[in-house]
Amino acid sequence: MNPPKKRTKQAAKKTMIANKPRASKQKQSGKVKELYDQTIFRDWCKACGICSAFCPKKVIGRDNAGGPVVERPDDCIGCRFCEIHCPDFAITIVERNVEPGRNKA
Ligand code: SF4
Ligand code: SF4
Repeated sequence: MNPPKKRTKQAAKKTMIANKPRASKQKQSGKVKELYDQTIFRDWCKACGICSAFCPKKVIGRDNAGGPVVERPDDCIGCRFCEIHCPDFAITIVERNVEPGRNKA
């Protein structure tokens, strides 16, 4: 079995461009809510605070050391501002699969 491929910043940039998130849709009280997951790669993050400061929905807060903390993941609107502006490609936004193979519009 091959060891898992090491994530590189170049690969991350390609993935970021190719994987514009497509929203999962979850019906909630008659409305369709799009859901996204936020992944932070701690090894690359330098705790600059850009993602937290500019998230329009205040999804990302900061811990005592200044590092980003996903506090309200369900409020994410998938705008990708954090992903695009992170200087170290340390955060990615992807569609959340609520139930794989189901609930697809
Ligand atoms: S913008 Fe990137 S490097 Fe800065 S705190 Fe957020 S994830 Fe970390
Ligand atoms: S994609 Fe937009 S709403 Fe979601 S965490 Fe990033 S900046 Fe906030």
